[in-house]
Amino acid sequence: MNKEEEMKCINCNNNSFYECENINSAGGYGPDLLPGTGILYHAKLSAKICSNCNFIHWFINDQDMERIKKSTRFELKEYEQD
Ligand SMILES: [Zn+2]
Repeated sequence: MNKEEEMKCINCNNNSFYECENINSAGGYGPDLLPGTGILYHAKLSAKICSNCNFIHWFINDQDMERIKKSTRFELKEYEQD
């Protein structure tokens, strides 16, 4: 994670967040948020919740991003910019 970089809420431009790291992307009965990234191992997520508007920004750990790239459940799509 890029901890020292500038961070602004994409919803309201606020810059203070409640943060939590190493959240499992799946549990025994919970949803599989990152499908195709492992059966016994679950990719880890970090959450930054905007202290102003409550918007949750989710990030996947760098090492687990390799699992996303190899997953058959995810497809890379590029969109037009304004
Ligand atoms: Zn916000």
